[in-house]
Amino acid sequence: MGFSVHLQGKIAHEALLSRQDAEIRLMDSMKRWIVNKVKCDRDYAISLSSTAAQGLKTTPGDDLAGSLVATSWRSIMEELDNTAKQIRQNADSIESKALDALNSLNVEKRKVRKLYQEEHTRILLQFTHLSDEVNRKKTEYQKYLELYKLMRSRFEEHYVKSGRGGRKLDDVRDKYQKACRKLHLTHNEYVLLLCEAVEFEKDFRTVLLPGLLEHQQSLQEAFILSLKHILQEIANNSDLSSEKFREIHKRIENCLDTIKPHEEYKDFTEKYKSTPAEPIKFTFDESLVEDSAGKLLPNQLTVDNLTVEWLRTKLNDLEASIKENQEKRNQLTNSHEGLANGKTTPTSEINNRLSTNVDTSKKEINELKCQERKMLKQTELIKSALNELGCEEVPSGCDLSLDNQTFISNSSEQGGSETHLSKRSPFNHQKLVKMLRKPFRRKSAPSSPVAPPRTRHSRSDSAPRSEGGDPVSITTNKSLVDEEWFHGVLPREEVVRLLTTDGDFLVRETTRNDECQTVLSVCWGGHKHFIVQTTAEGHYRFEGPAFPSIRELILYQFNSSLPVTGRSGAILYKPIPKERWELNNDDVNLLDKLGRGNFGDVYRAQLKNSNEIVAVKTCRVTLPEEHKKKFLQEGRILKQYDHPNIVKLIGICVQKQPIMIVMELVPGGSLLTFLRKKSSNLTDAQLMKMCLDAAAGMRYLESKNCIHRDLAARNCLVGYNNVVKISDFGMSREEEEYIVSDGMKQIPIKWTAPEALNFGYRMPAPDNTPDEMYRLMVRCWEYKPEVRPNFEQIYTVVDTLCAAYRVSFL
Ligand code: AMP
Repeated sequence: MGFSVHLQGKIAHEALLSRQDAEIRLMDSMKRWIVNKVKCDRDYAISLSSTAAQGLKTTPGDDLAGSLVATSWRSIMEELDNTAKQIRQNADSIESKALDALNSLNVEKRKVRKLYQEEHTRILLQFTHLSDEVNRKKTEYQKYLELYKLMRSRFEEHYVKSGRGGRKLDDVRDKYQKACRKLHLTHNEYVLLLCEAVEFEKDFRTVLLPGLLEHQQSLQEAFILSLKHILQEIANNSDLSSEKFREIHKRIENCLDTIKPHEEYKDFTEKYKSTPAEPIKFTFDESLVEDSAGKLLPNQLTVDNLTVEWLRTKLNDLEASIKENQEKRNQLTNSHEGLANGKTTPTSEINNRLSTNVDTSKKEINELKCQERKMLKQTELIKSALNELGCEEVPSGCDLSLDNQTFISNSSEQGGSETHLSKRSPFNHQKLVKMLRKPFRRKSAPSSPVAPPRTRHSRSDSAPRSEGGDPVSITTNKSLVDEEWFHGVLPREEVVRLLTTDGDFLVRETTRNDECQTVLSVCWGGHKHFIVQTTAEGHYRFEGPAFPSIRELILYQFNSSLPVTGRSGAILYKPIPKERWELNNDDVNLLDKLGRGNFGDVYRAQLKNSNEIVAVKTCRVTLPEEHKKKFLQEGRILKQYDHPNIVKLIGICVQKQPIMIVMELVPGGSLLTFLRKKSSNLTDAQLMKMCLDAAAGMRYLESKNCIHRDLAARNCLVGYNNVVKISDFGMSREEEEYIVSDGMKQIPIKWTAPEALNFGYRMPAPDNTPDEMYRLMVRCWEYKPEVRPNFEQIYTVVDTLCAAYRVSFL
């Protein structure tokens, strides 16, 4: 299948030319590619070399002394640099050899193509020329043949006409002979030409064209061979598995072989070997709880109303987390076993990978176990703290009454039932709690189930009793609510004030989650509140036996001298009777509404036993417990005071809801309304007297360290003979000092001290205000509290003014 045989046709010739053009274009592309490749390789070599240099630079020194990995790493970086150099060298080689060769080849190729084309054209032209000659000769031949025929016919004609002589005949003969000669010559020329053409045609077909084509083929093939060599050169210089690279790689392998995990830390361990760390002990810093009045104990969870819900939620969360943790751990354990047994590991490569997974899952399992242990410990701690509570009502975390028990001294020896604030004395509750938690020495059981045991705590005939009442005793035939020591819904804050000595107890009711619960409150190293438990049979118990009625249960606890619960050790010694203030709700008959207070309506009412007409403040049943406590605060404060200008407390009704405060009825109603309606009918002297009443009331409160905090005409009442009485002690406080707190939500602006408002305005004097009175008012608004007059001084000024009125009246 050579060119000479198969490519003689015209189409083949043109195709061969196109082919050569295409080959030239291919070589051009190759050239461009080589240039690019060389550039890429050089760039790569530069980058590689710089990363190797970077790698060497960032290798930490001393810290990795003796590290096989570090040594190996350095060698690898060096080899990487060698790789870069080799790549660079190869690129140079490609450029100098392959590219140059390709350039020359390209030039040659163009030349050869040109020559082929020229040669082909030349021999083809030769052939065409000869063919043309033959045709031309043939045409000439025909022309001379015609001439010969003409001359011969003329000669024959004359010959016949003129005989054998004559000049004309000679002339015609001569012409005939010439034509004949021309014809013969042309004939010969034609014959010779044909001979030449035949020969040439044969040569053209069998020698010249095949020769040209054969030559061309051999040239082209030689080019291809050269190209092959060039490409081979490129390939050789691009072979990353060439001997040189293999050597580099071998050296890298050797470096890697030097890395031996078990030897890696030999030097390091030798250098830094030290004894294992001592376990760190986390201990509770007991100083943290020193001032917590025994409410917080070291290493013990505090279960009280502030924390109990949190603890329960925490417990639930922990239990859920433990469950989740366990499920996760089980899953991991199963898959870990699967992996370790190699069930799913057919190939060694996968085996290798899985061995890492085995380690990972082992680690995860261990972590989960640790987490679980931690959570289980916390769960145990919370559970035991909650369990310890048993039937005890959740104690108050912020028992203000407990504080008062400590800080308010009962001044009975000072001739009254008032409770005064005394300076806070340091009191180590923690010590007390600890002391009281010592094992309790059991008293012998009482002889009679109803008679209280005779202990230093127990009540005897001399037991105290609410004013004028019978001594408190626990007797039969009474219902619980009739017992003097049943205090109805008296709030816990009030209850703890009554229980002052260990063994003091009372029974009350409380509402929790809309459920009415009966609570036994006992003073025992603080205050304990036990919720009476109901058995499935409808009986009542604490930790001991159950009884058909709560009253019997309390009697049992009282008579047996057994602790209410093992944990508390609380024993009932002295039933605390209702105070004389504690009235039954049924003792009061509400008549008509007088007004509306912050917590509920205020009624005119009648006391059933005495028919006395009184005022009764009610507390809306729907109000939250906090508000109810606040409501009773007014009663608690008022019960200490007895003054003609302070509204008098008659009692509180806490046997059941709604709780109520019973007060003397002050018939004139609020001073504000009174003044708005009737001030025009009053003389200045009368008005000044009303001021004096208010000042007298306030002077009295001041002497009791009571700060009303809401003194205003609307909070004063007007009684018979226009006597003014201070009322509405809802915001009042018993304090040594008046501390402005954020708690004052609704501030009575006109009556509030300026520094409390930081407010520059001073009200102008109302009409007819005596100068002395306005001066007093302005002094009351002094910016600095210490410059303001106290109520003693105010009273004196107002009293002097009143006296002046009296004198002028006289
Ligand atoms: P308070 O809750 O103290 O503001 O009382 C609301 C309203 O009830 C007052 O404005 C008076 O009209 C009326 N009120 C309160 N206490 C008495 C009382 N002891 N005697 C007569 N009315 C009273």
